Amino acid sequence: MADTLVTSVADHRGEEPPALMIPLLPTADDILPLLRQIDSRRVYSNDGPLAQSFRAELAAMLQSRTSSPTPLHVATVVNGTTAIELALRLRAGLGRYVIMPAYTFVATAHAVVNAGFEPWFADVNPQSWALTPGIVEALLPSLVEAPAAVVAVSPYGAPLDQHAWNAFEERTGIPVVLDMAAGALSLDFVGRVPACLSLHATKMLGIGEGGAIVSQDAELIAAARTASSFGFDPGTRMASRRGGNYRISEYAAAIGHAALTQMSKRETRLKSIAQTYRSCFEGVPIGWQPGFGDNWVAMTLNIRLPAEQIEATTVALNTRGIPWRRWWSLGCHTHPAFAQSPCGNLTETESLAPATIGLPFHEIITEGQIRLVVDVVRKSLA
Ligand SMILES: *Cc1c(COP(=O)(O)O)cnc(C)c1O
Repeated sequence: MADTLVTSVADHRGEEPPALMIPLLPTADDILPLLRQIDSRRVYSNDGPLAQSFRAELAAMLQSRTSSPTPLHVATVVNGTTAIELALRLRAGLGRYVIMPAYTFVATAHAVVNAGFEPWFADVNPQSWALTPGIVEALLPSLVEAPAAVVAVSPYGAPLDQHAWNAFEERTGIPVVLDMAAGALSLDFVGRVPACLSLHATKMLGIGEGGAIVSQDAELIAAARTASSFGFDPGTRMASRRGGNYRISEYAAAIGHAALTQMSKRETRLKSIAQTYRSCFEGVPIGWQPGFGDNWVAMTLNIRLPAEQIEATTVALNTRGIPWRRWWSLGCHTHPAFAQSPCGNLTETESLAPATIGLPFHEIITEGQIRLVVDVVRKSLA
């Protein structure tokens, strides 16, 4: 073991360990023309012209990536967590509990609580790392009361089976909300079930802080816009429904415009880096999310280690100064804030979460750095 580590260091002497993540947002020069528009218009918020045109462009971009001709509607909000929260407030039925996967970023659980519900943590599928309609349907007979809703989560930006979740909602009558926070570019279909996106700096369509709700359901999206603006219907100052202030400013929308023009370059670059990683890892016994790097990509690269090698691999990475992270920690149920929430059998979560680590992944990583990371992992598994 010690010998192989020494060899791996020697092989890559002079190679600087890569950073774990480097978000790259539009530069000051990219957004300057849009800032000048704001200066001359003196409209800074309240669904101004840049917010409206950003929303329209975002909807058009998402539409162009889906297979369905039915128009998509978009509401922009202050962040992805708020998008989930608002979608739940607008859609959930009666009941105390919202079923959600234990394996997700803890924001999902916060959103459930802020919408007035208690999370009920369910397990995930070991291949896709996601909660599936099948898992929920198998649980339903054992629940003492019907859930108010289900939040399904895109694992690290992977596509979800949107058709299956829309069919689940129609079949069971249980409202569904999709946390696609990290997967804005992984929507190959959107039905009535809303997909909630994050526009955080660390996501594919980063604008700093921001979020969006996307659906075919025009009424739902109109309600989300109203709720985001003190419950005021457009052009009125009477609150027709309860909500708050969840709008984005013209400045955020300006970054959004610039980010949209840079998005496909970033996607192409990250896909090619993901493919380099995958080919360097060829033959190494680690697990991948289906289609990662080929069909889809996001801002993090996560691998599943064999259970008995987790310690050896993480120690080897630490020794060589290579950063890694369990982006979703060990699951929401392990956070003190949610330790009291009810949960089902979490066998798959408990084996997946400790074994899954994010490796350095960003647009300016070099091939030498990728080889260094892969080599350290490979030798730790030998
Ligand atoms: C990033 C993320 C969120 C939160 O989005 P914010 O815009 O940071 O509020 C929620 N769920 C998942 C799965 C995420 O990856």
